[in-house]
Amino acid sequence: MKELKKDEFPSKKWNLDYGFSGNVEINGIKTTIIIAFNEHYPYKKPIFFLKDYDALDFIPHVENDGYICYTDDNIILNSQVPNEILEQTTLLVLDTLKKGNNKVNINDFFEEFEDYWNRNHAQFDTTLISSFRPTEEVQLIRRAKIGGKIIIGLDDNAIVETAIRFKTSRRPNKALFRNCIYIPLENPLLPPNYNDFWESEELKSKIFENVSAENRKKLSEILDKYHKIKKEELIVISQPKSNGLVLYGVIYKGLNEDNHPLVMDASFNIKPVDIIRLEKEIIQPRGGGDTTLNEKKILLIGCGSVGSILAPELIKFGIGNITIVDNDFISTDNIYRHQLGLNFLSKNKAIAMSKFLEENYPYTTIKPIDNSIENSVTNSIIDLQDYDLIVSATGSPNTNFYLNNYLFKNTINTPIIYCWNEPYGIGGHSLLVQNRSSCYNCLYDENLVNKGSFCLPGQHFSKKIAGCSSSFVPFSSLDSHKTAVLTLDLVKNFLNNNIHNNPYLSWKGDNQDFINAGFMTSKRYDLSNNELIKSRYEYIDNTCSICSIK
Ligand SMILES: [Zn+2]
Repeated sequence: MKELKKDEFPSKKWNLDYGFSGNVEINGIKTTIIIAFNEHYPYKKPIFFLKDYDALDFIPHVENDGYICYTDDNIILNSQVPNEILEQTTLLVLDTLKKGNNKVNINDFFEEFEDYWNRNHAQFDTTLISSFRPTEEVQLIRRAKIGGKIIIGLDDNAIVETAIRFKTSRRPNKALFRNCIYIPLENPLLPPNYNDFWESEELKSKIFENVSAENRKKLSEILDKYHKIKKEELIVISQPKSNGLVLYGVIYKGLNEDNHPLVMDASFNIKPVDIIRLEKEIIQPRGGGDTTLNEKKILLIGCGSVGSILAPELIKFGIGNITIVDNDFISTDNIYRHQLGLNFLSKNKAIAMSKFLEENYPYTTIKPIDNSIENSVTNSIIDLQDYDLIVSATGSPNTNFYLNNYLFKNTINTPIIYCWNEPYGIGGHSLLVQNRSSCYNCLYDENLVNKGSFCLPGQHFSKKIAGCSSSFVPFSSLDSHKTAVLTLDLVKNFLNNNIHNNPYLSWKGDNQDFINAGFMTSKRYDLSNNELIKSRYEYIDNTCSICSIK
């Protein structure tokens, strides 16, 4: 064992403070490993390196600086007994190295191919952006260099769309579009050794040995017709792993031929290409979205305090198409209650939210409507039948009555959720009407008192900051979040077909501020959370003037 100085560690990225090197024997091969510690050890795991990263051959879980990935970060270290940690982790390291040298974990190379490929970064000379969804078939696809990056796509339109969507250029149409060949391998290749990239002849035989018979034929046909070779030719390769396809690129440099290098018996300069995959199918599921929801269309009415929380969350569910209706603009007194703050001051709420969503969440279709819902419906700007779900988050009972009456009178069966906050944080509600057995109007008695409210009737909560134009009901952003969570759960359960009736759901908050402001709560506020859930259908009024006329 030899103690190491701080500058003797193979990598700076781990903030290592002290360590040792020593010799071990793995499968009869003598080699040197380094054990290093951060000053926060034993709260940070010890870091191990192979002094020479391919001393045991090029094996999985050893990076190009020799770093040995022996565990994921879920290991819990017992800081009371540092010696045991050292023993436990050393065993894991030796096991990882042994498995690698015995090639029993070679499958990890295929499963984590991208990680090993990306450690070739020293050799990358270009970054490639792909919105192309890899297929099982050899084919010609298109490429263009736009804004310093190569973009590949199924066709030129797909490339232009990608450039616009990911803002690589303002004028992507001016780019030069060219062909490149896409080759899906049937059997996966091992990643190339970090410091020893494939030779072109080697790659050529690997490709022809590992494509399916059908694709080999197709590839030969394409190559026969592939002329007008440029200085650089790109090929894009995919190979299988357990949960999909890996995509990588190789670029041939300095060409001066008539034929594609893949048909030539000569040696060429080739470089690995780093691919950033921005396909819809890759981006969306990783964010936790459900791709089956992508076809759903939602109409969001009201993009205020609650609506501005709902909109991005609906997109993160995987909803691909949202129309947002709001004719209000973001004012100074909205800033601390609206998700879009100062940046969007004086902008229309629907348009501002649409801009925000399109910039941050690719592959979504957002249609903003700067108008009231009443005008939008009357003037046929929108058709309520076009949607899978309507969410009314205006908090305005008058708008909700309008929607409820309109849907019933015109026999429009689009499901709708109404949601709103109570004042001073005492609660919030969400009502789903997905069939004609009950409706929003059922909530109200003959004196237009909301039976589902947490407030005793006859009280007025509007506050005015600076005259009539800025009156508002006092509630906080946190209240809006709670109402949004209640509503989003309801949306999710509805979209997953877990609800078959029209429940009226509530969250109940603290009433201290409400009481201090001189107000009184209703009897319904006294119900426990369990009782609130149990009574979720009690609002239904069999004599309702809107829904009980059968
Ligand atoms: Zn009703």
